[in-house]
Amino acid sequence: MNSDFLIIGGGIAGLSTAQRLQQQGALVTILERGEIGQEASWAGGGILSPLCPWNYPDEVTRLTTRGAKLFSAWAKELHAVTGINPEYETSGMLVLPPFDAMAAVQWCAAHSAYSVHQVHAPDYNLLAQGDALYLPEVAQVRNPRLLRALRQHVESLGGRITEQCAVSDIVVENGRVQALTTSSGKFIAQNYIVTAGAWSTEVLGQNALRLDIKPMRGQMLLFKFEVPPLRHIVLQDDLYLIPRRDGYLLVGSTLEDVGFDQRTTSEARDMLWQRAQKLLPSLRDMPLVQHWAGLRPASPLNIPTIGRHPQLDNLYLNSGHFRYGVTMAPASAEILVNEITGAQQPFDVTPYQAGWGA
Ligand SMILES: Cc1cc2nc3c(=O)[nH]c(=O)nc-3n(C[C@H](O)[C@H](O)[C@H](O)COP(=O)(O)OP(=O)(O)OC[C@H]3O[C@@H](n4cnc5c(N)ncnc54)[C@H](O)[C@@H]3O)c2cc1C
Repeated sequence: MNSDFLIIGGGIAGLSTAQRLQQQGALVTILERGEIGQEASWAGGGILSPLCPWNYPDEVTRLTTRGAKLFSAWAKELHAVTGINPEYETSGMLVLPPFDAMAAVQWCAAHSAYSVHQVHAPDYNLLAQGDALYLPEVAQVRNPRLLRALRQHVESLGGRITEQCAVSDIVVENGRVQALTTSSGKFIAQNYIVTAGAWSTEVLGQNALRLDIKPMRGQMLLFKFEVPPLRHIVLQDDLYLIPRRDGYLLVGSTLEDVGFDQRTTSEARDMLWQRAQKLLPSLRDMPLVQHWAGLRPASPLNIPTIGRHPQLDNLYLNSGHFRYGVTMAPASAEILVNEITGAQQPFDVTPYQAGWGA
């Protein structure tokens, strides 16, 4: 049976798009080169906000704010229908100095999704000079659980998932995609959606036009405490500590322009661990549970490309979410499916077409 949509790539962008399309009655197949949800979407920290939201353009704010708003109900729905709890939790985020306090306070005052609380950092027993900013609305989710729940829901809605299936060519004739050539043979559908994360430009090949999505490595460390050592996510510059309910603590992350190299390095491990110890001295004696790296789909200004290909009617893209693809996932799926079905958009989505450069 032919699908209405073939989706290339089974990370959070592919799964959330599939789920949304299925809820509109579409028949969907996901083709995944490896295993579902094992790349950037698995590797991420699950903070549901930009790190310092005042540092980003409006296009990022609109998509992350909408995503964060949809997340709570989305996580609840997934938990209810699959029994897998993605552990959505509004844990708040403490931003430690140095940061541009004036810009931060003004930005928060202008954006109702963020209320602003200046706090005295030493109250949190964390090393910092000056006042910190507490953002109580910031939530987090556990990516591996979210992905497992999403996969289960997509399958329970009748979605087909083909793993170990690498797409090698998009066959175009007469201004339309006719088929996909893959390691498991040829696949045909009415419509095609590329959600291949850091590999999206390669997958599109000559159809990528001027798309500029490239890999940007991020490394993370994992520790385990008896009880959570922090109540909130703690952020200082680009370093963050994310406490999970069961005592796991994530420390991230690096931002490395090293192509498709997914190896971890001892330099990054030592740097992250040492910087994290300054904020949380008890980390010095904790064994490292795990160290991993993932490839973010990096786009200029962190603005993803979402929508129809400018020249090929039945080809779509939902990719390039860079640092915030988990936060943006429900909103990105929403606006792509709105475009496909002609439904009204929650805001002006034309900036998410600019990435094609056409
Ligand atoms: C260390 C780190 C920390 C992060 N922290 C956060 C955070 O706290 N909050 C947040 O919102 N975001 C965070 N992110 C960013 C977020 O994880 C990404 O933006 C998001 O996961 C991208 O999702 P994706 O589905 O586009 O890509 P991916 O999850 O990489 O999925 C793409 C899929 O496409 C498949 N694929 C590739 N080529 C082919 C092919 N030829 N054929 C078939 N399949 C193919 C891949 O195998 C992969 O499974 C973080 C990322 C990293 C690495």
